[in-house]
Amino acid sequence: LADRLQSTIKKMTGKGKVSEQDVKEMAREVRLALLEADVNFKVVKDFVKKIKERAVGTEVMESLTPGQQVIKIVKEELTALMGGEQSKIAVSERPPTVIMMVGLQGAGKTTTSGKLANLLRKKHNRKPLLVACDVYRPAAVDQLETVGKQLGIPVFSQGTEKNPVDIAKEAIEHAKAEHLDYVIVDTAGRLHVDENLMGELTQIKADINPDEIFLVVDAMTGQDAVNVAETFDSTLDITGVVLTKLDGDTRGGAALSIRAVTHKPIKFAGMGEKLDELEAFHPERMASRILGMGDVLSLIEKAQDNIDEKKAKELEQKMRTASFTFDDFLDQMEQVKSMGPLDELLGMLPGANKMKGLKNVQIDDKQLVHVEAIIQSMTKKERQDPGLMNASRKKRIAKGSGRPISEVNRLLKQFDEMKKMMKQMSGMQGGKKGKKKKG
Ligand code: GDP
Ligand code: MG
Repeated sequence: LADRLQSTIKKMTGKGKVSEQDVKEMAREVRLALLEADVNFKVVKDFVKKIKERAVGTEVMESLTPGQQVIKIVKEELTALMGGEQSKIAVSERPPTVIMMVGLQGAGKTTTSGKLANLLRKKHNRKPLLVACDVYRPAAVDQLETVGKQLGIPVFSQGTEKNPVDIAKEAIEHAKAEHLDYVIVDTAGRLHVDENLMGELTQIKADINPDEIFLVVDAMTGQDAVNVAETFDSTLDITGVVLTKLDGDTRGGAALSIRAVTHKPIKFAGMGEKLDELEAFHPERMASRILGMGDVLSLIEKAQDNIDEKKAKELEQKMRTASFTFDDFLDQMEQVKSMGPLDELLGMLPGANKMKGLKNVQIDDKQLVHVEAIIQSMTKKERQDPGLMNASRKKRIAKGSGRPISEVNRLLKQFDEMKKMMKQMSGMQGGKKGKKKKG
């Protein structure tokens, strides 16, 4: 999102008021960005309308540039689109509380059942029971049993002979007898939504009367996830959504549309394959992530406009692989100097605004000269591998550049943090590569 937005926003910087033309242009970009992120088109339409209404004629707050102001509106609306924070799980007045997990095959039901049981026990001090109701594949029962064993959480299973409705009912009786207070029912899925599956799930629902029905959807499937959610919800009236594989989702399309389409809250987010990688879903954090992700790309885009194409490509590659060295840094600084106000550019570097040293510091060109001097006092080896740096090397560099050692240290630290940030960003954008290239 941000890569598109930021370039538009840059154009607005420096204006006292957001004009109608600005808003129009920005709205166009927001619309394209959302569609590219695989957000449902109806959702996009409503969203853009809202942004327009709020942004037209917005007086600029003293502390914000018009661009930032618009970003703020977009972020607030993105957050609203994904709903409030709702990771609470129902508690039945008469235990056990029954949670039914539904979703397509491979969405992550079995894994998430385990994660949820783990969370309930760890965070809420509950005693959960896992129930194996996917009776179509022997491997599915084994899988849940393995998960249970790994976590030390009991699993109720009766092989693959019985029908899932009976297994679920017996499991609840079993939980009562054993004084277990949560029953998590792992059901079967199919590759696609089909009537048999819906029939079976409807039957289970009617017989066990669950307190929660969580639909598990794979965030990486984007728009498809939204269609799936719509179907499951209209048949089963789900109570919440768990978005899995958010660790691999680079676009956020499913997260953005599901809530708006189903009006059901996204309760949890799966952030990895491990059984402790389930988090409460935070709409605001997700909005920041969606907006923040593009910083590197927008920097690169800006670079592409100003620097020759090949260099920019190399830079991009280096940022992605985090093999960025001080030589690249120096190289980049030379080119960057012709591109505009420095603090604006630095603000686009991943995490630059979060770096302690940079925060609230006005960056002027004098400082740039100092940074250059420090880097130029490094040996070739040191520039390639800052890990070499020790006290005597730092002393030598400080002397050579005529800067205090504290400044050398600060630069090293900032560089290090920047690299970490790049690594993180490139991890998050893994799937994005080659997907889109703005012309
Ligand atoms: P089910 O068919 O719906 O029961 O899906 P499974 O629980 O068997 O999960 C399918 C695959 O997705 C497995 O390989 C899981 O490890 C993987 N998976 C589930 N949740 C996540 C997640 O949040 N992140 C990642 N990266 N993988 C996940
Ligand atoms: Mg399964």
